Amino acid sequence: MQSCLSALTIGILSMSLSAGAFGAEPLATITVEAGRHARTDTPVSISLATVPEAVKGLPLSLQEVRGVGRVAIPAQIEQGWTPRLHWIVAGTLPAGQTRTYELVAGAARAERVVKANQDDKVLEISVGDNKVMQYHHAMVPPPQNIGKIPEERRALYNHNAFIHPLWSPKGNVLTDIHPPDHIHHLGIWMPWTHTTFEGKMVDFWNVGDGTGTVRFSKFLSTTTGAVYGGFQCEQDHVALKTSKGEQTILKEVWDVRVYNVGGPQKGYWLVDFQSTQRCVADQPLIQDEYRYGGFGYRATRQWKGANCENLTSEGKTRKDGHGTRARWCDNYGEIDGQWEGVTFFSHPKNFQHPEPMRLWPEPNNHIFFNFCPSQAGAWEMKPGEDHVFRYRWYVHEGKPDVEQIERIWRDYAEPPQVKVEFKRPQAAIDLFEGKNFSKWQKQGEGEIGWKINDDGVVQIVPKSGSIMTKQDFKDFMMHAEFKTPQLPAEVRGQGRGNSGIYIQRRYEVQILDSFGLEPKNNECGSIYTFKAPDRNVCKQPGEWQTYDILFHAARYGEKDGKPAKVQNARITVFQNGVLIHDDVEVPNKTGAGQPEGPNPAPILLQDHGNEVSFRNLWIVPLD
Ligand code: MG
Repeated sequence: MQSCLSALTIGILSMSLSAGAFGAEPLATITVEAGRHARTDTPVSISLATVPEAVKGLPLSLQEVRGVGRVAIPAQIEQGWTPRLHWIVAGTLPAGQTRTYELVAGAARAERVVKANQDDKVLEISVGDNKVMQYHHAMVPPPQNIGKIPEERRALYNHNAFIHPLWSPKGNVLTDIHPPDHIHHLGIWMPWTHTTFEGKMVDFWNVGDGTGTVRFSKFLSTTTGAVYGGFQCEQDHVALKTSKGEQTILKEVWDVRVYNVGGPQKGYWLVDFQSTQRCVADQPLIQDEYRYGGFGYRATRQWKGANCENLTSEGKTRKDGHGTRARWCDNYGEIDGQWEGVTFFSHPKNFQHPEPMRLWPEPNNHIFFNFCPSQAGAWEMKPGEDHVFRYRWYVHEGKPDVEQIERIWRDYAEPPQVKVEFKRPQAAIDLFEGKNFSKWQKQGEGEIGWKINDDGVVQIVPKSGSIMTKQDFKDFMMHAEFKTPQLPAEVRGQGRGNSGIYIQRRYEVQILDSFGLEPKNNECGSIYTFKAPDRNVCKQPGEWQTYDILFHAARYGEKDGKPAKVQNARITVFQNGVLIHDDVEVPNKTGAGQPEGPNPAPILLQDHGNEVSFRNLWIVPLD
């Protein structure tokens, strides 16, 4: 949640051809690898770890390399701890092929953008002139003409924090709110149903019971852009009758993004939805095993009986889908002779994936859909722990086209790999100039025992001690090249080419010969014993490898009137051009690191008894 709540101000980079940009040396060269599957109009993104211009929010643009030419394409930078570049791999990229882009300085214009416009009731997202959805932040009362609600309970049904309408590319409304059969149903929304807090049941879904509800709290950001538009907002899951009276149990952040792909001509929208939920009470929220609750969709009331259906990734339908698990579920129906639908994809990282689902099985009924992890058994939301739920939506014309849906599934679950070659920034300080150790000192007493070869390569002399910079650093970008030695096969584990870069002498990014091994939290690329690299991209010993690192030091301030850490250190690492740590919060020093503290501190290169080599080390201090 912390990362979601940290203000993400969004910069828009809208671009077209800009003569000045051509011929300029790129700040980064980016390669997208389709991998095993063909890609079509696929949204991709990548952190910009060592591009100072991105951190400063300077205008940047993206060019696709086509032969000797360059074509400017829409791109967008999301600010945050690590700036992130977003764009669309447009058209079709066949399996096994790559596409290359260059990031250059300077901005230009965009044509069609995704807009987020907010008034005092709703936030509306549109692509060009076409509306996609409205999010309600103002309270919506139930309609007066709905009977059976006792007057004294009517206010319980006042609700916000939901999406309605969701429009199809043709402009039909695909959601419903306050249907007479379930007055509490609200388009697309995400309350839990059968939960226990302080030993008592709280139902955030059936609001008429008066035990719980979900309320909009505030917007954290809205984004208008050439690649995506959307919003982030905070919502409160409130228990109405606790020992302390009304109490917020869960703080939730929605992050909703509509991509600039598809549209009326191609007949679809693509939306990413993420909900991050944290229990903020002093005791856990117990999720009881139950048949519904969580991410819910109530379809338009024009879909009823024979003119609507479900189809899951496992081939189940409305008749037999309830209680089964799926990677995706399509909900479709007919309005005025036109079939349309929406597929909901559950991300592979989601709890209980493939998630169990609630579908209404009655053949004469409307369409209701719900990904419901609680069907798989009781679970717990502990205070302070983040639970992240990610769903992609594919809003489409026609009945479900399984081939097309599976293509979108692969883009979501197994996105193309993005590799980046960062250019050395102008502001970079060389840490080894190839001749001496003028910027270094030995850890502890005495002279540096490492050697510098004729070709300017620094090599560890085992047992001569670790070395560290004379200068202290707080936030910085850093590049390092290293090579582990070729050792006899019987040398194994932590004895095989071990060294490491100790950021601020506190946090070690491990160096080891881990070629071909499973990623682990003590192998090469790991944040030592804390986190494994996201993937193992190690080269063979004897080959040069690179690290590109963006580091934000821990922040100190006051908590409850006492000096305290208020923000963990954050690390982004690319190894050999591949992102292996994506803005990771590191809660404490690693291994033999120095204790955490507010003071800036040196970079230390570890002597762990192996002849590891270094070259081309540079750093850009950011403070
Ligand atoms: Mg080490």
